[in-house]
Amino acid sequence: MVVETTFYDILGVKPNCNPDELKKAYRKLALKYHPDKNPNEGEKFKQISQAYEVLSNPEKRSLYDRGGEQALKEGGIGGGGFTSPMDIFETIFGTSRSRGPARGKDVHHQLSVTLEELYKGCERKLSLEKNIICEDCKGRGGKKGANEEVCSPCRGTGRITEILQLRPGMIQQSQSICGECRGQGRKFSHKDMCRTCMGRKLVRTRQIIKINIEKGMVDNQKIVLSGEGDQAPGLEAGDVVIILDEKKHDVFKRNGSNLIMMMHISLVESLCGFQKVIHTLDDRDLVITAIPGEVTKHGEVKCIMGEGMPQYKNPFEKGQLIVQFLVDFPDSIAADKIAKLEACLPPRPEVIIPDDAEECTLLPMDPNADARRQDSRNAYDEDEAHDGQGFRTMQCASQ
Ligand SMILES: [Zn+2]
Ligand SMILES: [Zn+2]
Repeated sequence: MVVETTFYDILGVKPNCNPDELKKAYRKLALKYHPDKNPNEGEKFKQISQAYEVLSNPEKRSLYDRGGEQALKEGGIGGGGFTSPMDIFETIFGTSRSRGPARGKDVHHQLSVTLEELYKGCERKLSLEKNIICEDCKGRGGKKGANEEVCSPCRGTGRITEILQLRPGMIQQSQSICGECRGQGRKFSHKDMCRTCMGRKLVRTRQIIKINIEKGMVDNQKIVLSGEGDQAPGLEAGDVVIILDEKKHDVFKRNGSNLIMMMHISLVESLCGFQKVIHTLDDRDLVITAIPGEVTKHGEVKCIMGEGMPQYKNPFEKGQLIVQFLVDFPDSIAADKIAKLEACLPPRPEVIIPDDAEECTLLPMDPNADARRQDSRNAYDEDEAHDGQGFRTMQCASQ
């Protein structure tokens, strides 16, 4: 049992989620609340980052699960002990700009793809916004030959200091980026300013980009469109980075290059053989046969070679299609059919009942009954019902 779920709630995951689910949740939210996309959600971006930092580290996560944020603080994590949200973002998205020449910003985008698209490959079109150099002033921001002058509201500092009186004798000073020059400290006078970009040197535009989804690509795979990101005056353009997000499929579950599916068969099919049709991700129909005389047991696993996922960059190589059979048993059998049925089946084993055996009644089992009893016990005996790892200890019902 975890003490607190705040960090899990921030990421929108369950306390028992695995590292993959955690990373995926972080990715989705970090892209959504990244300051480039959502400048007013800085606090949210920070929370997502801190929650991920703690939960992605097994030691910190177990500390948090046992004692919540208080335990982290006592362990010297939290407060000022967090990594900067931008550093975490760059670690996960691999976009660190510390090396190489300065460039425009990368534009990140998560793209939802179906398993069919990853199987067959396809082309997707995406409409993305980005900054491009203003055509009309060629990125100068003003008329040719004109020069920028020192911005007067901020006196060339690019920052505006505001003093707020909270109550008599108590003032608060806050700094913000100058709106007139957008922090540049210099700007064109009104008459010289480019009318198209209003001196910004950049204009925002929406562009349609084509993304080639190749056969066998995987969840979380990055597709980098070099130079398609934000342009910036005097800098190389950034990249568009597409991150694939594989949608859940109703029938198939992917496991590396293999596909796994569950197939329900009836008891008669399990005992007497069957033919079944599997509709593939590329719209073909496969027929599978269990010949009469061959029994397919409940839970039995079989495979079809070469009907799994294609390999990325080597799509003629395909993995296996793994089929697990689930036998649907009838709820009851008419009493007058039992003798006939029994005659068909292997003989039942002989059971010897001791003279002093006690007669019991079999009831349907309620899986929650134990837990409910346990809960009422925990109310009195909190410590003994939990072990060191924070898991509920199973106790024998006869205690
Ligand atoms: Zn200014
Ligand atoms: Zn312009």
